[in-house]
Amino acid sequence: MADGSYAGVVIDRVSSALDRVFHYKIPDELKDKTKPGMRVLVPFGRSTVQGYIISLDETTDIPEQKLKAIKKLMDPYPLISEKFIPLIMWVKKEYHCLLIEAIHCFIPPGIRINVKEKKQKVVYLSSDYAEKVESAGKLSANMKAIIQVLEQEDGLPVRELLINTGASQSSISSLVSKGLITVESEETYRNPWQYETAATHPPVYNDEQNEAIRLICAIMSQGRGTVLLHGVTGSGKTEVYMKASAEALARDKQVIVLVPEISLTPQTVGRFKSRFGDRVAVLHSRLSIGERYDEWRRIYNNKVDIVVGARSAIFAPLNRLGLVIIDESHEDSYKSEKRPRYHAREIAEMRCRMENAVLVLGSATPSLEDYHKARQGEYHLAEMKHRVDNQILPEVKIIDMRQELAKGNRSIFSQSLYSALRQTLNNHEQAILLLNRRGYAQFVSCRSCGEAIKCSNCDITLTYHKKGNKLICHYCGLEREYPKVCPNCKSSYIKHFGLGTQRVEEELLKLFPSVRLLRMDMDTTSRKGAHHDIIEAFGTGRYDILIGTQMVAKGLDFPNVTLVGVIAADTALNLPDYRSSEKTFQLMTQVAGRAGRGTKPGLVVVQTYQPDHYSIRLASRHNYEEFYKREIEVRRQFRYPPYSHIIRVLISGDDEKGLINYANDMLEWTRDYISRDLVLRKGLVEIGAYPAPIERINNKYRWHIIVKTDTSEETISGYHLLADALLEKFQSEDINTALDFNPLSLL
Ligand code: ADP
Ligand code: ZN
Ligand code: ZN
Repeated sequence: MADGSYAGVVIDRVSSALDRVFHYKIPDELKDKTKPGMRVLVPFGRSTVQGYIISLDETTDIPEQKLKAIKKLMDPYPLISEKFIPLIMWVKKEYHCLLIEAIHCFIPPGIRINVKEKKQKVVYLSSDYAEKVESAGKLSANMKAIIQVLEQEDGLPVRELLINTGASQSSISSLVSKGLITVESEETYRNPWQYETAATHPPVYNDEQNEAIRLICAIMSQGRGTVLLHGVTGSGKTEVYMKASAEALARDKQVIVLVPEISLTPQTVGRFKSRFGDRVAVLHSRLSIGERYDEWRRIYNNKVDIVVGARSAIFAPLNRLGLVIIDESHEDSYKSEKRPRYHAREIAEMRCRMENAVLVLGSATPSLEDYHKARQGEYHLAEMKHRVDNQILPEVKIIDMRQELAKGNRSIFSQSLYSALRQTLNNHEQAILLLNRRGYAQFVSCRSCGEAIKCSNCDITLTYHKKGNKLICHYCGLEREYPKVCPNCKSSYIKHFGLGTQRVEEELLKLFPSVRLLRMDMDTTSRKGAHHDIIEAFGTGRYDILIGTQMVAKGLDFPNVTLVGVIAADTALNLPDYRSSEKTFQLMTQVAGRAGRGTKPGLVVVQTYQPDHYSIRLASRHNYEEFYKREIEVRRQFRYPPYSHIIRVLISGDDEKGLINYANDMLEWTRDYISRDLVLRKGLVEIGAYPAPIERINNKYRWHIIVKTDTSEETISGYHLLADALLEKFQSEDINTALDFNPLSLL
């Protein structure tokens, strides 16, 4: 046994000063009970603090008289299974986070606030909070802080809320009396699944499904590997997931199924529950903390075989993992925006490697990187090109908004979309209008020829900056004056552009004053359950038109919806981001594949200033293959991923001048570091410091250092070491530093 005389403990405090392992003596009476992964109380400085044992060692460098002893084991069993300790170390190294931040991924939700109590008081925003807040009068700073925290979280225990905000109980009481929040006494042991489920049986699989299942099973029998399941929407992927899961269970193995947070509507979970019954656990952030804790305990105690959940479910404490499935694997929500900034696919790949399991990535529009790997033979590829029911795809009309302008129509609705809306309303059918949220950044485009103004070095759209009336490239830093005429066609009708859902709502009401509108976007879905409620309200037919950001694309399953309109398909195309064509293609494909689900034929109207852009043209024809060929060529030419690796160091602070100096120091230091190392020098593609596209958030200025390198393993591990050194060197009270390897967005 590896049990030594000293316990290596990580203190449970998020502080870079404490980011190491401290040795403690193990008192004789605890010798037999002390195991790695246990939560302990230890003396630290003048107080007693909580920590986690991550090693038991025979020797220590600490002199005997300085060593202190563990005070108490907090639980009778380790919270973290010993086999996860190497994975914790890997997470720390890979994502440059603190050890304790890596540990927090693996412990049961709510354990740090002793969720074990049977009941606890949890605070929620009231369901009618949005209406009441207008007339609530002036709120104190503490009350505002409480509201702000609750807008981020779906309910928080009183204790945690008070700790997080520094507010007192009286602020909570006043908010309750104003009707803005409610306090609920919650049971912590509840079944998060309150829907009836009738048992279902597998269908007879078609040839494409059989082939995919055969491939997954063959790899499962051999050991580990990754399968990319590329299947059009409705091709029966979920049935393949379920059959593969059943096969894993038959081999006495367990399964994790990840789904994007937003699509955790009852559908996918319900289908697994109906097929596999109580041996399925559900984990996602919309459950109460008690529910999550309870599900975690069921998994830990080996009461379940299948875990269905969002991103963080990849850390589920299963002991016999055989299969991980990531549905809609191209979705951005699999990447954490908080430290550690992990991507669930990367954790899954590492877990599968360590535990000898198979990873299945399923998507109708795989990310370029994943498809590239499949083409290169790094992943196995299964393709399902046909819909199970052979349902025909809806007609997709691409409307050229430049011609609308030429005809004198300056409204945001084309003649076609207007007529289609009118027709839909007359028929008492429903419509969905989609506006891409990613389009809020302002770019400059020509309304005559449709060209968006791009950087001459980068093939990336320039971003309009109000300050100085300039256009700036956020990749190479190029700056230019706001042009008076279009560089392409010399028209003077050019302007910066950016459109919100509220504007669409206003315009619709002008055209159809009595229309019943429902809006779904970041503003209207912050409350717990709001997303679900909006979808449900629309489904009952009480509304005529649903307007929303890309969130609505995921709820497009209503039989009475016969029209889907895309207000401006190009908004995402013009973002200063090398993934903008890919994101546009994914969204358009999703929209085009999902309208007209009922018996009535569907129509999709796509408005665009760039009707000839390949991502829009090919999406309307569902041609992924061709899109991949075009896009991978662009990536190769400009050396974007998968042909390079991007490292981003984002810094932010109050003082703009100080921040710019800091960025330049960091750039100089990094250049110097690279120049002294042959591997780093050889692997470097380019490096620079630029203002971030969103230059200021919450009054903090933002800059970033962007490093592009080649993709060899040697280079990447070299740059990981550089990143460690950089974080060690640049520590500041006033400036916040966030480091991201392969960021999904550079905004
Ligand atoms: P995807 O996940 O690719 O969108 P689903 O697995 O949801 O596809 O399948 C679409 C629909 O077809 C579902 O209602 C599913 O129950 C049904 N289905 C899937 N496979 C078969 C099959 N082999 N025979 C009959 N129906 C099937
Ligand atoms: Zn032009
Ligand atoms: Zn540029």
